[in-house]
Amino acid sequence: MERRSFLRGAAGAGIVIGTGLPSLCSGLAAFGVKPNLSRVEARYYDKLPDREIECRLCPRKCRLGDKERGYCGVRENIGGTYYTLVYGKACSLNVDPVEKKPFFHVLPGTSALSLATAGCNVNCKFCQNWEISQVRPEQIDHFDLPPEKAAAQAHGAGCSSIAYTYTEPTVFFEYMYDTAVRAKRRGVRNLVVTGGHIDPIPLGDLLAVVDAVKVDLKGFTQEFYAEYVRGELKPVLETIRAVAKSK
Ligand code: SF4
Repeated sequence: MERRSFLRGAAGAGIVIGTGLPSLCSGLAAFGVKPNLSRVEARYYDKLPDREIECRLCPRKCRLGDKERGYCGVRENIGGTYYTLVYGKACSLNVDPVEKKPFFHVLPGTSALSLATAGCNVNCKFCQNWEISQVRPEQIDHFDLPPEKAAAQAHGAGCSSIAYTYTEPTVFFEYMYDTAVRAKRRGVRNLVVTGGHIDPIPLGDLLAVVDAVKVDLKGFTQEFYAEYVRGELKPVLETIRAVAKSK
C-alpha cells in the first residue's frame, strides 16, 4: 500500500503517524487530543434530497451523504449542511521570501506570510508536502488563526503579501477568501499557489480579491494527470486561461 493511501485510511482508524515538516508550526496531534476543527458553512454547494449535498468548489463535484467527507478530507456533510473543517485552522505558517513561492515578478525582494491548512483535492505521487496535504486535519497539529489575525500578523511582520500555499488553497477557499479581504484592507497583497483544480465560479470570485495566482501545470497530457496526479488536465488549462484573462 502506498504511504499516502495508508495515511488516508489511518484517518478513519484514528492512527497518527510521525512527520518532519518544513514549517514552523506543523507537527502531529497526539492520541487523545480532541480535534480542533471548525464548523463554518461551506460555500459553493447544493443541498439535495435525503440530506445529501453536492460540492461545486472543484471539478470532483463530490456528492455526499450525511456524515461523509469530500475527497479533500476537510469538508463534511453534517445533517445536510456542508461545512469546512479548516476555517481559521492553520497547520503551517512561515515568513518566506516571495521568490520561494515561487513568484519572481511580484513584489520582488519582499517577504510573504505563507499559510496553509491540511488537505488537497488531488493526490500527486511526487507531492513534497504530502504530510500535510494528504491527511485529514485531525491527523496533524494546527492552531487557531482567524482571518483578521492572519492579516494582522502579516502586516505586523512587515510582509508585503500573504501566500496561500504548501497544500491546495482551493480546499480552504472560505478561509483564504476572508483572509484575503481583510489583508487587502491593511494594504497586504494576496498570492495563491494552486494546482488549478477549481470551478470557474469560485475562481472568478477569488480573482476579484487576490493579486497574483501561480497555477502548477504538473504535466502536458491527461494520461499523466490520471496516472500521477489523480486529477484532470482540462480544468487546470481552463483555470490558467481564466487567470490569464483576468489581468
Ligand atoms: S473541494 Fe473537496 S469536497 Fe469539494 S468537490 Fe473538491 S474534493 Fe470534493
